[in-house]
Amino acid sequence: MNLKRVDLKSNGVPRAHLLIIYTGGTFGMTHDKDGVLIPFDFASILEHLPTVRNLGLAFSVFSFENPIDSSNIQPEHWQLIARLIYEQYDLHDGFVILHGTDTMAYTASALSFMLENLSKPVVLTGAQLPITEPRSDARENLITALEIASAKQNGKAVVPEVCIYFDYELLRGNRSKKVESMQFDAFDSGNYPALAKAGVKINYDFTAIRKPSNQPLKLYTRFDTRVAILKLFPGISEEVFQAVLNINGLRAVILETYGSGNAPTASWVITGLRQVIQRGVLVLNVSQCPGGTVLQGRYATSRDLVKAGVLSGADMTTEAAVTKLMLLLGEYGEKVARERIGKDLAGELTSLE
Ligand code: ASP
Repeated sequence: MNLKRVDLKSNGVPRAHLLIIYTGGTFGMTHDKDGVLIPFDFASILEHLPTVRNLGLAFSVFSFENPIDSSNIQPEHWQLIARLIYEQYDLHDGFVILHGTDTMAYTASALSFMLENLSKPVVLTGAQLPITEPRSDARENLITALEIASAKQNGKAVVPEVCIYFDYELLRGNRSKKVESMQFDAFDSGNYPALAKAGVKINYDFTAIRKPSNQPLKLYTRFDTRVAILKLFPGISEEVFQAVLNINGLRAVILETYGSGNAPTASWVITGLRQVIQRGVLVLNVSQCPGGTVLQGRYATSRDLVKAGVLSGADMTTEAAVTKLMLLLGEYGEKVARERIGKDLAGELTSLE
């Protein structure tokens, strides 16, 4: 897995210098001989984007040597992207990552935890239709993402955080979810307002945008992937439940519960959870609802979870929870992960403390 540099010369005196990272995704896909969509080279994409050269921006462009469908994204890809941003940080005003939509919310969440003390924008974008298609959303998504990544006010970046720009909306990365695969509005952040809406002008919501850090950027790259997501459903059997909880070497489980964090009160549910927690496995309660928050103890169906030692994931998305958990476990181990998982690290949750 490697990155290669792509040449992109622009015209005129640049007002900002951006770094573009092309990872693949529908944005730059083409049909193979069987009509199936596969990624193609960034150099070919540029032929469809002549306007990029005239935006008054200078670019450094890096591409995955072999662009991928984002269903193949792994923590190693996050490490590659985050290291590049870290190394190139001082040389650029902002960063734009072209990425498939399928796992974009996971990558955005992971990057938000890997890059601490951001004072510059990291904007992920992609497309629902390849740039070669006449009705593609790729052009608008990229041009506005570049505009946002280069936007400054009083010499400071307007959006100094990891975010997703898609279909005229800018969302916080670690609050986003892919919610749509056929319409253009692929992303939503049910628990946090849009950071900006793009119309004739780009209207930023300055009350929602994170403040820039004045501390030096820090990079964290170690992930422990020995985690599982256990989604509850009416009819889930004790056998399935226990099989997941008792996976050999498991360090943490995200329990995807109902509503405000509720689970069946069957004794095997609570006993099973209590036993793995006593063995040192971290169990985090995240709701299946895209909006609202986990409030353990609000209903009788969540009271025993607290007693068993299940931790509340508050209003975190599953995407934020799983990436945060893997990074905390990888960097610090179980004890610190337990202390920090419910704390707001990068704007990913609303603290009820
Ligand atoms: N399967 C594609 C991907 O995530 C979908 C997309 O880019 O919209 O790479």
